[in-house]
Formats: sequence, structure tokens, C-alpha cells
Amino acid sequence: MSKELTYSRKNFYDAADEAAIKTVYDYCEGYMSYMDNSKTERETVTETIALAEKHGYKPYNFGMTVKPGDKYYYNNRSRNLYLFRIGSEDINNGMRIVASHIDSPRLDLKQVPIYEDGGFCFAKTHYYGGVRKYQWVAMPLALHGVVAKKDGSSVTIRVGDEDGEPVFYINDLLPHLAREQSARPLGTAIPAESLNIVLGSRPLANTDEGEKIKKNVLAILNEKYDITEEDFLSADLFVVPAGKARDVGFDRSLISAYGHDDNVCAYPSLTALFESDASEHTLMVVLADKEEIGSEGNTGMQCELFTDLMGAIAAELGGNIYAVKANSKCLSADVNACFDPNFPEVFESRNTAKINCGITMSKYTGSGGKGGTNDAPAEYIAWIRRIFEENGVLWQTAELGKTDVGGGGTVAKFVAKHNIETVDLGVPVISMHAPYEVVSKADVYSAHKAFLAFNMA
Ligand code: MN
Ligand code: MN
Repeated sequence: MSKELTYSRKNFYDAADEAAIKTVYDYCEGYMSYMDNSKTERETVTETIALAEKHGYKPYNFGMTVKPGDKYYYNNRSRNLYLFRIGSEDINNGMRIVASHIDSPRLDLKQVPIYEDGGFCFAKTHYYGGVRKYQWVAMPLALHGVVAKKDGSSVTIRVGDEDGEPVFYINDLLPHLAREQSARPLGTAIPAESLNIVLGSRPLANTDEGEKIKKNVLAILNEKYDITEEDFLSADLFVVPAGKARDVGFDRSLISAYGHDDNVCAYPSLTALFESDASEHTLMVVLADKEEIGSEGNTGMQCELFTDLMGAIAAELGGNIYAVKANSKCLSADVNACFDPNFPEVFESRNTAKINCGITMSKYTGSGGKGGTNDAPAEYIAWIRRIFEENGVLWQTAELGKTDVGGGGTVAKFVAKHNIETVDLGVPVISMHAPYEVVSKADVYSAHKAFLAFNMA
């Protein structure tokens, strides 16, 4: 009797047998390999297109005809991807949309980055997104990105993640001389202008001119990539942590990686889509850019491309875009904070995601008095509760920490403003936005099951 009257979240391992655990661990092998090739939004788009083509998805351009059964992807400027599969049901009944983001906090190179000082060549960076600056010093770093040249060609740079490649580095003070720095508040101990990447220390041979160390680095870059210092003016070059996704713990139940936020939702949205060919609904997966800086720009969730694509699909199928939007359902698939027993003071334990207790639904995000959130309606959440129960999806509810401690947002409000029913659903993360974040394998797999149930219901 008491079991039926009260609510408590369930832990995956309370009911899992060896076969269920193996399913979860095997699924996460695919996720970890996806992560190793997806450290920037451009790389995630490239990796996803390769996966999508294996599952029969073809490039879409505006003006193409679409019919039930068709599977398309729309590559928006190599940094934002839409995938959709046309269902058999009347398009006016709406679409099922899972929207996540594929940009992650990092350090971008500045426009004029390279300089020489004190026997080193450095590159200056400008941090992107919610970075805790002290976490990025004195660790191996990699450089990923693209340099676009005036002649229209572009060069891809990816250094620091393969065996045998050099890494990059940001100097920090030795403790012996850090008495003053250590006394500063954490947020100001490492100023942004000290996040300078070491590129080298060896001078160019056979020259008497100045800046020989910088010139040597530029000579190496010119030989390897055929670029000059001026070409950095038109580049998207990102400094990310070096290294691959790894199992964590003797039991290998957890995964550390750079960029779980939000590839840990993007990947399950893809695997669920690829398993949903039998769905009668028209399905869409959005991999958005620029979420970490407010979903801005023409590759972010606020770009009208989202509704342009919905409109083009509706028109092709003889539907009415206003009806399609009004009847569509969306999961805003983004991570949430996982309860961390090392910092219990910032969490409200009854309304906090717990590790291994499944994907997290957040009725609202935002901060303070629900500022800046899409507060999902009770009826929509009840519908999701039902389909999750029918499909054995392990899920839990959570807020992002104690009400007055902080807060955060997702793409949910930018979807909901188009008159589309939307709620936040995502994987709980430990150390969110750190160079290496941690998630639970059981929770990653529950995301896959949740998105699959949503597509099929
Ligand atoms: Mn996120
Ligand atoms: Mn984030």
C-alpha cells in the first residue's frame, strides 16, 4: 500500500540483472567512440552525418520533394544539423522533435593570437561559455578547428588527441610562489588574459631578426597547413582538453569525457532516431550550436531555420504550418546537475537528480523565481510519464540545485516560443562544464530508451 501512495526515484542497479548491465555498457562503447570524434560542433556534425548516411539519411535542400519514409539531414554551415524522417500520419498532427546542442565550453583563439614573450611562443584565448578558468591550467590541451583562407579553401587543424602528437599547455604558478594567488577568490585567481597557450620555445635558425620563436612556430604552421599569421583572422580554432573518453571506477560504471554537455543527449537522440523507422510520426532531431552563449546566431536554436524547415516539410506534405507547430511535441534534451555528495550544500535533495537513477526531466530551469524558463505544463508531463511507464524508461525529476544558489537555461524556451509543447529532459552530469565531466552509463542508456519511447508513442 505505501509503495503505491508515495513517490521515490529508482536506481538502475536495484533491478538490473547481468544482461541489462551488459546492454548498458555495450551501448556506451558506441557513445564513447562518438565522443572521441566529436570535440567541437563541426566535428560532431561530420561524425553525425557519417552515422546518418549509414542509416539511409540523405542531404536535404530547400525545394526538394519529401514523402513518407524519406530520411534527410540538413547541414547548416557545418556547425548545426537537422535530421528528419517523414512519417505516415497526417503532418497536421505535428512532429516529434528532440533538440540538443553540440557546442561545449572551451577556449577559443583570439583574432590576433600569436605572440612571443620571455622565451616562449604563446596563443591568446577568449573563453567560450561558462568556463571555470582555474580548471584549464596545467593540463594537456588539444587544438581543433578550421582556418578559412582568402582563396575560399579551408584547412582543418586537429592536434593533441592522437598518440605521438604534441599537446598544448597553460602555465600556472608553483605553490611556492602562489601565496597571493591562492588567497584570491576562485573566480579571479586565473584572469582570462592569463589563459595563454604555449605553442613553442625554439627559435628559427639562421636569422638575426626579432621574434625568432614566434617565426619558427609560424614557419612550422606554414609548412604543415600553408597558412600565415594573417589567416588567423578568419579561423574557428578551439582549445579543448586533450584525451579521450574513459571509463571511471573499478566497476567501469561511469564515463569521463570532454563535452558530455551536451553530446550525452545528442548521441542518444540519434540512436533513438535510427531505431524509429517504424514510427508513424514525422521525427526531427536538432543538433544546435551556440547554446552555451545563448543559442544566438544563424547556427543556434534561435535561428528561424528551425521553423523554415518545419514549414517546408509541412508545405511539401500538404499540411498547414500553424497546425503542425501547434500539435508538435519537443524534448529539449540537455544535461542537468547530478547530486554531488562532496557539495551537498548547493542541492535540495528531494528535487535533485541522483546518479544511476535515469534520465532527468526538468519541468522548469531558469533562476530565482523561474526567471528565463519554459515551465512545461502539467498535462504534457503527465503524457510523458505515461509513455515512459509503458516503455520501462528509468527517469527522475530534478531542478538545477537550490532555488537561490544559481541557475541555468536550455534551448527549451526557444522551441516553446513557436507554440510547440516542450519540456527539458537530459542526462545528469557531475562537474558540468569542467574539462572532464562525468556521467553514469545507466543514465546515458536511459536517455536512449526515453527518446525511443517518445518517437514511437
Ligand atoms: Mn547544455
Ligand atoms: Mn552547458
